[in-house]
Formats: sequence, C-alpha cells, structure tokens
Amino acid sequence: MSRGRSDDAVFDRPTEKCGVVGVSLADRDAALPTYYALYALQHRGQESAGIVTHDGFQQHQHVGMGLVGDAFDEDDVEALRGNAGIGHVRYPTAGSVDKSCAQPFSVSFKGGALGLSHNGNLVNADEVRARLADQGHAFTSDGDTEVIAHDLARNLLEADLVPAVERTMNRIHGSYSLTITHDDTVLGVRDPLGNRPLVLGELEDGYVLASESAAIDTFGGDLVRDVRPGELVVLHEDGAGYDSHQLVEEPNTAHCFFEYVYFARPDSVVDEELVYEVRRELGRHLWREAGVDSDVVMPVPDSGRAFASGYAEQAQDAGSGVEFAEGLMKNRYVGRTFIMPTQSARERAVRLKLNPIRSTVEGRSVTLVDDSIVRGTTSSQLVDLLREAGANEVHVRIGAPPITAPCYMGIDMATRDELIAADRSTEEIADEIGADSLSYLPLDAVTAAIGKSEADLCAGCVTGEYPFDVAGEESDRDAERPDVDAPADD
Ligand code: AMP
Repeated sequence: MSRGRSDDAVFDRPTEKCGVVGVSLADRDAALPTYYALYALQHRGQESAGIVTHDGFQQHQHVGMGLVGDAFDEDDVEALRGNAGIGHVRYPTAGSVDKSCAQPFSVSFKGGALGLSHNGNLVNADEVRARLADQGHAFTSDGDTEVIAHDLARNLLEADLVPAVERTMNRIHGSYSLTITHDDTVLGVRDPLGNRPLVLGELEDGYVLASESAAIDTFGGDLVRDVRPGELVVLHEDGAGYDSHQLVEEPNTAHCFFEYVYFARPDSVVDEELVYEVRRELGRHLWREAGVDSDVVMPVPDSGRAFASGYAEQAQDAGSGVEFAEGLMKNRYVGRTFIMPTQSARERAVRLKLNPIRSTVEGRSVTLVDDSIVRGTTSSQLVDLLREAGANEVHVRIGAPPITAPCYMGIDMATRDELIAADRSTEEIADEIGADSLSYLPLDAVTAAIGKSEADLCAGCVTGEYPFDVAGEESDRDAERPDVDAPADD
C-alpha cells in the first residue's frame, strides 16, 4: 500500500524520470548535437547527464553529475567519437544521488555494444530482473534501465534486431521512451501506451530522436512526427533515412496529461499538440469554469504563465475588468523546488526563488494562477508573500485537477502522504494555503483542452486509476491490461 510509506523508501530507489536523445549522422560526430539536445531537455532532469557514442568499432561513454554544463567540458564532448550517439538527463530525486544511476546505461556483450537511455518507469522490473538473475545475469544497479538492457542483450543473442526488441517490448510493462545504440545503429522505442513522449526529427545530414521537439529545434532540425506508441524506429547508419516497425498495438493510448500541464517545455509539440497552446486553452477553460473578478491576475512564474495569459484573455473577452500583470519576480538561478530533499529546504527555496512586485499587488485583490498544486508548499508560501506585500484578497486558480495519488509511470510526484489533496476537500486546502478562494480545473475540461479523450490519456495522479494494475492501488481502467506487481518503490 502506498499510504504510510516514508520518504526514504521512495527516494532510496533510483527512479527514471528523464529526457532522452538519439542522433545518427552521415559524416560527423554525433556528440555535439546530442550535447545541445540535452541542454534543450535540461528541464526534464538536473541530477546527471550522459552521452554514449559509437564510432563503428568502439563505444564511448561519458556521464557526470549535475546539469549538462557541469557534467561535460569541451574535452569530454570531443572524446566521444562516432556518428551514432544517445544522451540522457536524469530527474532529481532526494536519495541515491550517485553516478551508478546516471545514464545512458552501457554494456558490451557477445552480440556487440549496447547503450540505453530510458524515460519512464517499468511496473514489472522486479519480476523481469528476477527471471534474468535466475539465468545468470549480474546487475550493478537496482534501476529498471539495466533490466531493459540485459533483457535486450539476451534477446539479441538469439534473434535479429527487430524481433529482439519486440520480445523485450512484450516482456516489460510500464512506461518507456527509449533511445538505444546497438553498435553504431541508433534506435528509438516508445511504449505501447505512448505514456512518455518521443519525437523523430530530420537534420540536413541525419536523423534525431528526442523526448521533446524543442530539442530538435535547437540544432535547426525539422520535426518529422511523434514516434508512435508501440513503434520501433531504426535510424540508418549513414544518416540517410529510418525504418519504422509497429511492434505492439494497443486499442487505446495513455499519454501522460501532466506532460501538457507541467513537465514538457511550452515550445514543444507533444503528440501533435503545441504545449503552450494547450496551456493557454487550459487557462481559458479555467476562467469559464471558475473565473473570479479581481483587480489583477498574475501567474506563478514560469509554470503558470501560459495558463494565466489564457485565463486573462478569456476574462477580458467576457467583459471582466481584470488586468493581467506580473506580480512575482523569479530568481532564475534557483532550481526547481523539488530538487530540495526536505520539506524545510523546499520552503526556503520558494522564498529564495520568488519575490513580489509591490505595484501589482499592494492594496489590490489578486488572482494567482498556477498549473498544479502538489504538496501545497508553493501556493501557501506565495499566498503569504502576496499578503505581506499588501494584497487585499488572494484567490488561487489551478489549471489541473487536484493531485490525489502518486505517479507510477515516471514522474516524481511525491508520496500520497505528502499530497495536500489526497485527503482534503478544496475548501480545506484553500484554508490550509490561506487563500480567499481556490478552484481547480475539472478533468473533462483538461481533456477538452488537450483535444484527446480521457480514454487516451493517463490521469492516474488525479483519478488513482492507472493504465496498469498497481498492487495497493485500485484500477479498473481496463481489465484487459496486464496485471503486474507494484513497483518496488511503493
Ligand atoms: P507544491 O509546492 O508541492 O504544491 O508543487 C507545486 C509547484 O511545483 C507548482 O508550481 C508546479 O509548477 C510545480 N510542480 C508540479 N509538479 C511537479 C513535479 N512533478 N516536479 C517538480 N515540480 C512540480
């Protein structure tokens, strides 16, 4: 059962909530474009960064802790020879911050060299690991990425590339967007439910796979399309093309709705929708569902900005006199609040990060717009801050439903005990964060804004219903879907 577990139980285990890249070029090293792409995906993980390349003879690897700029210097990138490369940025967690968890994972075996970057979370990693361990595989970490690499290596000894990947896809369950090097061939694989994003892009001299299209933009590439759920994309070694293999088909997808709400960059296109426009549309819905006439509407920077601009636009269209203004100044050198391992560190971080702009706030009624409330730390600190700065009233509007359950699909969303909405009504939460009023956006408005049906989205963190049955969690979403063990971090 999730309830009652301690932070340590969750954070001691490596988690895989990350950004991935794969690059195959005709006639130049892949390392530099991969490095640039990792910069573009930095928001998806700040704990470690790594690149694996292959030059046709030999595999090269560099991984380091921290931000991409800290993990690599010029010589590190220069040493990564070869036209084929994959990269990875890893999401921060409070425990097990060490290099053994950094990716890409790499292994050399009888069938060649394998590099693997993973964004997602397997729900049956322990079962697959136990089976492989019985067959003699030795593991160096307890993460699920190594499990995928070992399973694939084993299958590659018995089968060609495409059937080997297919076998692995049929064995592992959960969310996974993978970029893989098998010698100098670069592959991209997306789980059959398409839970985490993965896109394919074209460069003048090659092809690229990345978690988000913004990474393709950084080096002047064109977005070709999303990798399809259940698809394997094999980039040609000469950079001249790619093959597509639809290996597993599911009747429905389970795209993560939270990618649109918070996780992905606003300038990325995820499953054919530009994230910025989805967020503005969520803001418009928010005004229609729960608009409040106040003097000023302001975003929580940066996460609430697109929501607040859509909200204000809809308010003004409806004849409200509400003004849109920035009321909080962000110190951009302070990282995301979740990097902080303890609650008191998180609270300090919010104060370090945001300071009110008095002219927007003083003597006025204020509506503060953000994408989500998780633990409630940010919103309660900000309501306090705005009152201290002289706000008469503080109303809080949130562009997503209350987060009431953990995520088992690859986003570090806190434990149920920590989630402020897990066992409180909206009125109780408003009270706790000190707001004059609080409203969330209902799920049907979220699905309308994203333009996908609820059946094609994973909203487990707000419904408690997951695309896989998770032990200790109720899920009747689809009885046909595999019944698996809870992830070991439960
Ligand atoms: P909290 O302070 O715990 O309520 O977290 C809410 C704030 O963190 C909001 O401003 C969100 O933009 C941001 N946020 C939401 N989900 C996450 C996440 N999974 N990781 C890091 N930050 C998040």
